[in-house]
Amino acid sequence: MTSPVWHPFTQHGLEEPIPLVERAEGAALYTADGRRVVDAISSWWVTTHGHSHPRIVAAIAEQAGKLDQLIFAGWTHEPAERLARDLVAMMPAPLSHVFFSDSGSTSVEVALKMALGYWANRGEPRHRILVMEHSYHGDTIGAMSVGARGVFNRTYEPLLFDVGTVPFPAAGREQATLDALEAACRSGDAAAFIIEPLVLGAGGMLVYPPPVLAEMRRICARHQVLFIADEVLTGWGRTGTLLACEQAGIVPDLLCMAKGLTGGSLPLAVTLATPEIFAAHWSTDPARQFFHSSSYTANPIACAAANANLAIWREEPVRQRIATLVDRQAALLAQLSRLPGVTDPRQQGTIIALDVADPQGGYLSQLGPALKASLAQSSVLLRPLGNTIYVMPPYCIDQADLDQVATAIAEAVDAVRR
Ligand SMILES: *Cc1c(COP(=O)(O)O)cnc(C)c1O
Repeated sequence: MTSPVWHPFTQHGLEEPIPLVERAEGAALYTADGRRVVDAISSWWVTTHGHSHPRIVAAIAEQAGKLDQLIFAGWTHEPAERLARDLVAMMPAPLSHVFFSDSGSTSVEVALKMALGYWANRGEPRHRILVMEHSYHGDTIGAMSVGARGVFNRTYEPLLFDVGTVPFPAAGREQATLDALEAACRSGDAAAFIIEPLVLGAGGMLVYPPPVLAEMRRICARHQVLFIADEVLTGWGRTGTLLACEQAGIVPDLLCMAKGLTGGSLPLAVTLATPEIFAAHWSTDPARQFFHSSSYTANPIACAAANANLAIWREEPVRQRIATLVDRQAALLAQLSRLPGVTDPRQQGTIIALDVADPQGGYLSQLGPALKASLAQSSVLLRPLGNTIYVMPPYCIDQADLDQVATAIAEAVDAVRR
């Protein structure tokens, strides 16, 4: 019997059968048909310390038996209070206010709405959002609007709002990006610039260096254009540091985080804001409040999982594990870049990526299905973006598992070239 489940980003006409996973531990998934599969993409970029980390599991169990859910408008609870306090302490000043939501996409929607609310409540309405070419910020209508237009969202384009786009700062063409941003900021109606710092994930694991990020931040500050850092992917150590922004020595006005916030165990997101943005909404006038909520805002169980994640960051050698993985990933990338047909090897912290030469390229690259078919035969979970293969494992992965990843990629690259 076929399953009634309709899967995300899945063409059911091509991708059957779908593997059934029964449990996971560390960097390994265990399937119902008895296979051990190395999770080389952190279950879609979320799992940081490894699957079913005992401290996170224990925190979830304890909180579930105590307070499972609570309205968060006008009420509060200790797991959210503690999480907000500890996040503000851990993240750079002046990010002083924490708004909870449920996914990366909603954290972006919240940031966009806060930016417009900030300008509206100051009596200087600005509406235009600036974005970077090839960006991805999520799949809700607003998040799609500020992301790259393409095969992902062509059908929905009539609903997407207009934005100003600056070119991606490809090596050697950084100045064109900075000039375009300067011009777009100068136009006067720019409310905010939203950016994926250092790594553009779904756009193909494209990387650019910290000085460009720092310069973009300076340009926005000069024109009072709010700077929104979408660290949904890059946050929680993926780029080698807790935040990618850290490497450029910058602090955004609004910071979006999700994926690794709970260590990848439960859905939870936050949008952090500066005192100025909070103050623009603070009033005794109900019409100036921030009009946003979802039923599960700051769910206590998800907050408890996030508190356990923060405790792991404070008390376990997470930075040491990340440094070890960064070195191992560099060695893996050097090895893979010697394969025939591999181009553009690139690394940003724990993330490595390469392209398999294909004149057509892109998400619907002709090579995509063949790469997927080869990888499906391996005992490694990888999900190429078209002809781009990337490896983004949980920080606990060991060398033996990375060696398996290397073998699976070498076989897949070889298979599509034959
Ligand atoms: C994954 C991602 C999102 C969307 O997060 P969801 O939790 O899937 O809604 C937003 N921005 C970036 C940079 C992402 O990688």
